[in-house]
Amino acid sequence: MLSVLMLDVRTLAFVSSLGGFLMAATMLGIYFAGLRSRAVLAWAGAGLTLGLGYLLGHLLQTVPVPIPAWQAGALANATIGFGYGLILIGVQMYLGRRPWVLFMVALALVSFFSSFVFPELRESLRLRIIVLSGWYIFVLGYAGLLLWRAKVPGMRLYFRAAALILHCYAGFLTIRAAYALFSKALTTSFVQDPLQLINFLLSMIFGFCFAMALAVMLFREKQVELKQLAQIDPLTGINNRLSLDDFATQAMARSRDADLPLSIMLFDLDHFKQINDRYGHQAGDKLLKAVAEHLTKVKRGSDTAFRYGGEEFLVLLPGATAEQAVEVAERYRSSLADNPVDIGPDAVTLTASFGVVEWNRAESWDALVNRADQALYQAKNAGRDQIVS
Ligand code: GH3
Ligand code: MG
Ligand code: MG
Repeated sequence: MLSVLMLDVRTLAFVSSLGGFLMAATMLGIYFAGLRSRAVLAWAGAGLTLGLGYLLGHLLQTVPVPIPAWQAGALANATIGFGYGLILIGVQMYLGRRPWVLFMVALALVSFFSSFVFPELRESLRLRIIVLSGWYIFVLGYAGLLLWRAKVPGMRLYFRAAALILHCYAGFLTIRAAYALFSKALTTSFVQDPLQLINFLLSMIFGFCFAMALAVMLFREKQVELKQLAQIDPLTGINNRLSLDDFATQAMARSRDADLPLSIMLFDLDHFKQINDRYGHQAGDKLLKAVAEHLTKVKRGSDTAFRYGGEEFLVLLPGATAEQAVEVAERYRSSLADNPVDIGPDAVTLTASFGVVEWNRAESWDALVNRADQALYQAKNAGRDQIVS
């Protein structure tokens, strides 16, 4: 470690800016790969701003520049602060909150110009570190807090990993500020203090780790989203048959664990082919949507409805005995028969035939659905628009 710290300051300055540039490159890559959200752009901007800020701040102290060193330093510190602000703005955008854009711009401007107004800020490294750290710690800490507390199904671990990285770096900045407050050894030169050299390295590691955490988080979010999309029937918006396996396995396990009954209801619309032939396929689609909407309204909160086939639907009824499931089916059968659906020229009355069965715990899921199918078949044979259990 020590030998690393002995690296000359230009190398360290370059190294510290790498974390920011790496974050910018990662986020731009993700953006151009197709994840075009404003949050990703804000994080790309954060990386770029941080990289430039570090490069400015540290290189300008080692290379002759036309402006006084303290002005270059103030500009670099304001740039770095704005970079951290963009991290918070990205988090706010990502979580659907109102981003504090104006507030962050104002903070950066105040930070820059205050060094012109207050000579103390120019002269005292201690004061500068404390004031700037307060700003950085607040911004990073708050961004981490928002991520830590965000509730999105399947994302908690990923949010918390990113939050932890923000909090770790904010924690280091707190230690650095406390050191500046109490240390007698702190020199007036910005770059010679060991803690400052550690900060060069840590800022690079922070940028690298945070960029990776964001990349994994964004990848995971896409994956959760795609999985959800793959489970939804595009026409009716209710769950499709693909998603049924997971739901069925869970429902059976819960029923066994809680010693509660589990029933299913399978129904098929009557003479739907005729309706398609008479009114056209598009009208048929419209009717299927109406059936799904209706089903969603009538079913109980604990039940889950699936489009099982073309015009076949299945409802999982956890906690329901066969008798209770028949009651639900009857509610649905009568409301369907009593509410014709308007499809332009005509209002069409749909009916359906239902098979209702209760799981006996000894049978497999396939066997259960088979029994429901047989009951449905009997309902069709007995004249349709009825329930067989
Ligand atoms: P029944 O069930 O009463 O015996 O008669 P049916 O005419 O409904 O017969 P069946 O269930 O075998 O026919 C299903 C018809 O549903 C065939 C197909 O034209 C129609 N269908 C299936 N999927 C869709 C769809 O996504 N959109 C539309 N418009 N029609 C569909
Ligand atoms: Mg049918
Ligand atoms: Mg059918």
